[in-house]
Formats: sequence, structure tokens, C-alpha cells
Amino acid sequence: MITVNIEKCGHCGACVAVCPTNSIELVEACLKIGDACTTCAMCVSICPVGALTAREEDA
Ligand code: SF4
Ligand code: SF4
Repeated sequence: MITVNIEKCGHCGACVAVCPTNSIELVEACLKIGDACTTCAMCVSICPVGALTAREEDA
């Protein structure tokens, strides 16, 4: 899953644009990651401020 550090996020929308499954929604000051997320981590790579972290589900 992807976690968002809302204190770092500058709401630039880059992650929203890059997500291949359209899983990211920017709602006012809040970033929502949807169920269709495949943890491909493209959003993690694109974020200019490092606000996104990919974390493995409990295995
Ligand atoms: S990890 Fe991939 S699928 Fe999930 S929100 Fe980020 S870009 Fe979208
Ligand atoms: S790319 Fe980073 S700073 Fe930009 S909206 Fe996404 S999480 Fe926020």
C-alpha cells in the first residue's frame, strides 16, 4: 500500500497524473489512494518532495 505524508505533500498533482490505475484523488488538502492501487510505486518515484512511501502489506 501507499502511505501519504500529508505534512510533506504540496498538492502538486504529479502523482495523480502518473498513476496508471487512476487510484489517486486529490481532495482539497487530502490525498486519497484508492483500492485499484497495485503498489507499482510510480507515484513514489515522481513525487518531488518524497511525500509518498510504498509499504508492503503485512506478510
Ligand atoms: S503505487 Fe502505482 S497504482 Fe498505486 S497509487 Fe501509486 S502510481 Fe497509482
Ligand atoms: S506528487 Fe507528492 S507533493 Fe505532489 S500531490 Fe503527489 S504526494 Fe503531493
